[in-house]
Amino acid sequence: MKKYNFNAGPSILPQEAVDNTIEAIKNFAGTGLSLMEVSHRTKEFQAVMDETVALFKEILNIPEGYSVLFLGGGASLEFCMVPYNLLEKKAAYLNTGTWASKALKEAKLFGEVVEVASSKADNFTYIPKDYTIPADADYFHITTNNTIFGTEIHQDMDSPVTLVADMSSDIFSRPVDVGKYGLIYGGAQKNLAPAGVTFVIVKDEILGKMSRPIPTMLDYRTHIKDGSMFNTPPVVPIYAALQTLKWLKSIGGLTEMYRLNKEKAGLLYAEIDRNKLFKGTVTVKEDRSLMNICFVMNDEYKDLEADFLQFAVSKGMVGLKGHRSVGGFRASTYNALPKESVQALIDAMQEFEKIKY
Ligand SMILES: *Cc1c(COP(=O)(O)O)cnc(C)c1O
Repeated sequence: MKKYNFNAGPSILPQEAVDNTIEAIKNFAGTGLSLMEVSHRTKEFQAVMDETVALFKEILNIPEGYSVLFLGGGASLEFCMVPYNLLEKKAAYLNTGTWASKALKEAKLFGEVVEVASSKADNFTYIPKDYTIPADADYFHITTNNTIFGTEIHQDMDSPVTLVADMSSDIFSRPVDVGKYGLIYGGAQKNLAPAGVTFVIVKDEILGKMSRPIPTMLDYRTHIKDGSMFNTPPVVPIYAALQTLKWLKSIGGLTEMYRLNKEKAGLLYAEIDRNKLFKGTVTVKEDRSLMNICFVMNDEYKDLEADFLQFAVSKGMVGLKGHRSVGGFRASTYNALPKESVQALIDAMQEFEKIKY
């Protein structure tokens, strides 16, 4: 049966990225060896690393003065690396969900943390807008897309202090004005690559200002100096990331990607709003995520939840069960998810409505 992959992460990748990576795992760059069996210090792999960094910068239109790094540890290690490298006295955090809360918790180990606003009391169903960023903070941390709750900050904001963003689940989904940020990071396993590699985009001039000593592996400057090769980088995920970036460029880059993402999400949200059985969980519509679309059964149809899930599974849909902290359903509509998958879900929702309503 054809599968429709709505997984939240790790999640769907472009088929050609998967296929090209399989080829390289069999025979890497004509070496007759597997990508998994060659040194990261070979000229063949160095070429992969160089091209990945170059294409990453090109597609995101990253200005001069920024470095792009590929590290281990996931976005979760960045929750601690960011304050280790940037928090001297005080940092500000916007609390918009589970991941934002985890980032904030780590920062507290390093200094004073101001939670400028939080939507926790409403189970993170919106993005707080009324808050002041303290001008004496070392940085301000945001989570641009809240993977679990399905909210997203769609605009690049102005911040009086260094802006730091966790973009794990919306990187490459839209054009980003990288110049507004001091640091952007994320686990690659939502929109870019298989699990195992973490990307970091950092403005070089914000580093080197801490009075505390920083362990070598946790110091961004180590990885800038050694071009993400201080130790063995995750070679297979980096290779796969390169294939995803090539695909992104081939379809027309971020302007086209953004158009497609808005189109897909728009279709699904319209159905959620129209269909009498379902409702969206994000209360402020402008905060709805283009990547993770959360919805539940309307109150009077609550007992049909398991039924609908089973109905969707019978049609080949995978990964639709909502996160336990929200319940209901979550359709992750990442870059590589084709529009036909969204259409298949809409068809299933309409068919289910006909049977049950
Ligand atoms: C998935 C996710 C994380 C966690 O990433 P790991 O690489 O598993 O540590 C952090 N932040 C956001 C926004 C995520 O979606």
